[in-house]
Amino acid sequence: MRCTSCENDAMYVRPYDKQALCVLHFNEHMLRRLKRSISKYKMFGRKERIAIGVSGGKDSIALLYLLNRIEKEFSESELVAITIDEGIENYRDEGLFFAKKHVEKLGIEHSIFSFKKDFGYDLDEIISKLGTRGESREFGACTYCGILRRKVLNKAAKEVGADVLVTAHNLEDEAETILLNIIRGDIQRLARLNPSPRKIHPSLIPRVKPFRTTPQAEIVMYCMINDLEYQEIPCPYAEEAYRGVVREFIFKTQENQPMLSFNIVRGQDKLLEMMKDIKTNKDLKDCEICGDATTSTSCRSCQLKRQLEV
Ligand code: SF4
Ligand code: ZN
Repeated sequence: MRCTSCENDAMYVRPYDKQALCVLHFNEHMLRRLKRSISKYKMFGRKERIAIGVSGGKDSIALLYLLNRIEKEFSESELVAITIDEGIENYRDEGLFFAKKHVEKLGIEHSIFSFKKDFGYDLDEIISKLGTRGESREFGACTYCGILRRKVLNKAAKEVGADVLVTAHNLEDEAETILLNIIRGDIQRLARLNPSPRKIHPSLIPRVKPFRTTPQAEIVMYCMINDLEYQEIPCPYAEEAYRGVVREFIFKTQENQPMLSFNIVRGQDKLLEMMKDIKTNKDLKDCEICGDATTSTSCRSCQLKRQLEV
């Protein structure tokens, strides 16, 4: 089959619009879609210091390379990388290895932060202290990991002087988060899931997800055809995730309905447009312990610390 845009052989046919692409045009489309997303949602300003979270997985490595290309066109902005070490044995070291390797190759400033140093406990210690899920431990490991990663990433972004924090969540991740918020009936959180950077609390660095309209399969393909190595072994706690059920639903349904995730994300954008006058940060207060944003009297990371220290 021929590429839709040139005479070369196509190596991939996009299931959602049947466009056939050669290697050259696949790379070009990836870059163009990313640029479109960045400009549509005004993700970055011209002179900003942009911090990207690089875990060493496929999404963050692909985004690092693509953003590095885009950023070079804007000499007044600056890209810096942040890696969070959660402290997960037989898992995090490999991710760190790939993160360091690629960041060094591109000559980007790199800062590594850890749960242990910034919170006092690493994830393995937290899970072993809290015990078995469903008995002494209330939630799956990913819930604790998510609470702390958000906290430490935000702290890291502040420490490196970033104006905006980039995470590499892809199309299906975003669709999953939207569905989870609906399932939980968490409309405030759904309304805060805005693609444009917004200062919703003085303690929070605005976040953006430039890959929120890029399908996971194309990120894997981008890494493959550009020889970008990344961490492939799964996290040992991944099977505890409730997200897994929703994720499975998305990928299974997508086999017959390739527009599914695009439709969910577009639906969210339309909903946000309709809700734009609703103040989404009205229930955000300062944590009485650390001052970070919370909807309660203390933030979830301070609550977790208290629980661990009892
Ligand atoms: Fe953390 Fe869960 Fe991801 Fe493992 S799978 S790194 S525990 S969020
Ligand atoms: Zn707190």
